[in-house]
Amino acid sequence: MSSIDKTSEITKSFDTILVLDFGSQYSHLIVRRLREIHVYAEMLPCTQKISTLKFKPIGIILSGGPYSVYEDDAPHVDPSIFDLNVPILGICYGMQEIAWLNNKSVSRGTKREYGPANINVLDSSCPLFKGTDNSKVWMSHHDKLTKLPDGFKTVANTDNTPFAGISHVSKPIYGIQFHPEVTHTVQGKRLLKNFAVNICKAPQNWTMENFIQTAVKRIRDTVGPTAEAIGAVSGGVDSSVASRLMKEAIGNRFHAIFVDNGLMRKNEAENVKHALDEGLGINLVVVDAGKEFLGNLKGVTDPEKKRKVIGHTFIHVFERVANQIKPKDGSQIKYLLQGTLYPDVIESVSFKGPSQTIKSHHNVGGLIDNMKLSLIEPLRELFKDEVRHLGELLDIPEDLVWRHPFPGPGLGIRVLGEVTPKQVEIAREADDVFITEIKKAGLYRKISQAFACLLPIRSVGVMGDQRMYEQVIALRAIETVDFMTADWFVFPADFLKRVASRIVNEVNGVSRVTYDITSKPPATVEWE
Ligand code: GLN
Repeated sequence: MSSIDKTSEITKSFDTILVLDFGSQYSHLIVRRLREIHVYAEMLPCTQKISTLKFKPIGIILSGGPYSVYEDDAPHVDPSIFDLNVPILGICYGMQEIAWLNNKSVSRGTKREYGPANINVLDSSCPLFKGTDNSKVWMSHHDKLTKLPDGFKTVANTDNTPFAGISHVSKPIYGIQFHPEVTHTVQGKRLLKNFAVNICKAPQNWTMENFIQTAVKRIRDTVGPTAEAIGAVSGGVDSSVASRLMKEAIGNRFHAIFVDNGLMRKNEAENVKHALDEGLGINLVVVDAGKEFLGNLKGVTDPEKKRKVIGHTFIHVFERVANQIKPKDGSQIKYLLQGTLYPDVIESVSFKGPSQTIKSHHNVGGLIDNMKLSLIEPLRELFKDEVRHLGELLDIPEDLVWRHPFPGPGLGIRVLGEVTPKQVEIAREADDVFITEIKKAGLYRKISQAFACLLPIRSVGVMGDQRMYEQVIALRAIETVDFMTADWFVFPADFLKRVASRIVNEVNGVSRVTYDITSKPPATVEWE
C-alpha cells in the first residue's frame, strides 16, 4: 500500500503557510480557513525538524493542542523556526509554546475557560488585529501565561485572560489564546487574513484555476512522454475529477475502468458512461460484471463478509481488465490513479500519530503490489469542496459534482441480509423514488447523503382488498459537515407521506416504509 508523502510538491508552485499541529481538534480548520482566502497552507506534525523541511514557508502557525507545555512529555516545536525569519502565529497551545520557549511563563490557571469570551483589542495598530474590534472569541484552555514573554507586549485581553493577544515588539511573532479558526470567533477569519496576507505577504493565488495548470504539469512530469496509466472510476466526484485531469494531462494514455458491479443505483452505469465517455472524452472501459458479483454474493448475509466478497471481486475484475490494456509503446501500464483527498493526508500527519489504515480508494490498494504500479494522486492536496469547485471548472456535469457519497459495495450493503438480483431491484427502485422526490423538492444539495435500505422483514398490509405480506423499506437522510457526526434530516411531513405512498404503490415487494431518525453516533450512516 502507498505510504503518504508528508510534504507536497505543490509547495514549489504556491507560497505556503505551514501549520504545525500539536493535536488540536481544530488544526485542520486553520488550513481550511486559509485556503478559503486563497492562501495555500499545509499541515505537518509539530515534531517536524526544520532542517528536513522540503520547502521554506512564508509563515508558520502553531496550532492548539491537548497537552500542557510545562509537562515532561509535552510536545515542543523545533526552536529553529525562530531562525527562519518568517512570521509566526501561536494559537492557544501554540502561544503558550512561544511563551514557554521564551521564559517559561506558563502555568495552570485557576479557572478553565471554554466557550465564548469578549475580547478587548488594546493596541489597534497591531497588524494582527488591524480592522477588528472588540468582539466574541472562542476560548478552550486551562493553562495561562503568567507574565509576558521577554520582548513581547500585550495587544488584547479578556476579563479572564490578561494575555489574550501578544506580539513581539520588533519581530513578526504573535500569540493568541483564543481560536480564530472556529466560526464562533466572529472576526477570526479577518485575523487569519491579517496574518497571512498583511504580515506574511501571501499572494492569495491559491485558486482552482491556478491549480489546474500545476496539477496537469505535475501529472505530465510524473508520467513522462510515453508511459500509460489506469484508474478506477465510480461515478463519484473524486474519481471523475481525477480522471478528467489525467485526460487533460496525458489524453488517451489514461485508461479509466468502470466496473459495473450490478449494485449501482438506477441508470447509474449508463449515466457514468455517458458523462465520462461521450461527455468528457475520457478513454473509458466499462465492464459489466454484475453476474460475477451477484454470483459471489450468493448465500452471504454477514455485512463484513459481503464487503470482503465485493472488495475481492472488484480487485479480481479490475486486474483482469487492466491486464488486457496494452500500452502503445509495448511496455506495461506503470501508473495507478487514486483519488486520495487532503483529509486522508491530514489524518496521516496529524500529531496524534499516524493512523494505521489510510482509506484505499475503490479497494485498488492491493493492485499496486500485484501489478507493480506506482500511485498517482492528483487531488491529494485538496479538500472536498475544492474538488467540487475544480469539477465545475472542468465541466464535469453538476449531477456528478454534487452526487451524494455512495459506498464502494453499493446496494450490496443497502440490501440487508442476502443480496439477490430481486432484492437489489427492490432497493434500487425504492431508492430511485426517494432520490427523485428529493431532487424535485429542491432538497438534494441540503442533504449530505440519502438512500433507501431494504430490510428483509415481512409485514402485513392490505392493497386493493388483497392481503399483502411484504418487506420494509427504511429511508435514511442525513446532514453533516464531515461525516464524523451526523444528524437526520427533518423533512416536511407531506414529503415523507408522498414518498411512502409512491414506494408502496410503485415498488413491488414493499408493504411498509419507515424513516430512520437515529443520529451518528451512535448509529452509522449506512446500515451495514
Ligand atoms: N492544553 C492547553 C490549555 O489547557 C492548550 C489548549 C488548547 O490549545 N486548546 O491551555
